[in-house]
Amino acid sequence: PLSCGIVGLPNVGKSTLFNAITQAGAESANYPFCTIDPNVGVVEVPDLRLDKLTEMVTPNKTVPTAFEFIDIAGIVKGASKGEGLGNKFLANIREVDAIVHVVRCFQDDNITHVSGKVDPLSDIQTINLELVLADLESVEKRIDRSRKNMKSGDKKYAQEVEVLERVKEALYADKPARSVDLSDDERLLIRELHLLTMKPVLYAANVSENEVADADSNPYVKIVREFAADENAEVVPISAKVEAEIAELEGEDKEMFLEELGLDESGLNRLIRAAYKLLGLYTYFTAGVQEVRAWTIRKGMKAPQAAGVIHTDFERGFIRAEVVSYEDLVAAGSMNAAKEKGQLRLEGKEYVVQDGDVMHFRFNV
Ligand code: GDP
Repeated sequence: PLSCGIVGLPNVGKSTLFNAITQAGAESANYPFCTIDPNVGVVEVPDLRLDKLTEMVTPNKTVPTAFEFIDIAGIVKGASKGEGLGNKFLANIREVDAIVHVVRCFQDDNITHVSGKVDPLSDIQTINLELVLADLESVEKRIDRSRKNMKSGDKKYAQEVEVLERVKEALYADKPARSVDLSDDERLLIRELHLLTMKPVLYAANVSENEVADADSNPYVKIVREFAADENAEVVPISAKVEAEIAELEGEDKEMFLEELGLDESGLNRLIRAAYKLLGLYTYFTAGVQEVRAWTIRKGMKAPQAAGVIHTDFERGFIRAEVVSYEDLVAAGSMNAAKEKGQLRLEGKEYVVQDGDVMHFRFNV
């Protein structure tokens, strides 16, 4: 499954946030394919469309889609040189699909800040520098190797060197690899390097519990926003401490607490949705009387691969899919009504699944 790594300096609130994530946790029986590991938290993706479909179909069971957050502890200054848990830390980041970078924006004199004072910009740069340095090492090694391989005459190596030189230049200027304008082919050429600064990032600005309703009045949040805007990255203000409290509540208690705080939903929900978007994911639905369920796919997936997310047999034996868009289905009021209006389409192997498609697969076993 797709995953998002949580990174940040010590004492910024990562564990607090991660505990809120596992506390709010998904019912693991629904997601047997998810990793069982104390550092992995499975979250369900909140989606109003799923609620609406449930109302319409009244199934026995409704299952949201899910993805994983991974707690990546241990980055300190010097990680790229193996300080602290440096190497392990970098290896863990290599495996995630996107990064949630937690930044301390709360003041609390009782909680030590690793560099002496709250300074979000310097914190962000400290971590980003470690990632840049680690990438620089991978890129330079690879350039050396590919230069040697160029003698074989295979043009691929020359192209690779050309692309890597551009990435190297960006890294030297302290810019992430994702800031380099690369074509899809060029991206593919260097994909196996798993560069850390190529991964999409969002910043979670951890504010004090009394600031959640108006986080943007916190001057540190403003600083983070300005930095992130330059990178086209998103910022989600959140109070890890409050999220930990919210995660322990359910139903009405939870709603009352959110109302007291002046929030319409938990920060965790906003973070989950932002991370989902960051990962470039689409959701499609299946809507049977037994189960209404949301499924995650990558943008651009064709119908058989999308079916394969449910079960590999569905992909192997794929014949075709009956498809209606969520909007058409809701406007029609029922599957039968949508069918009568001619909105239920039969699609084949080449169909590119769209966000919000409601699908029924026909397949051979
Ligand atoms: P980590 O080292 O980044 O995992 O940080 P922790 O989650 O362990 O948090 C470090 C300390 O900061 C803990 O004592 C937390 O209770 C505290 N903390 C985390 N978030 C907040 C917050 O929003 N407000 C305040 N006052 N303290 C917080």
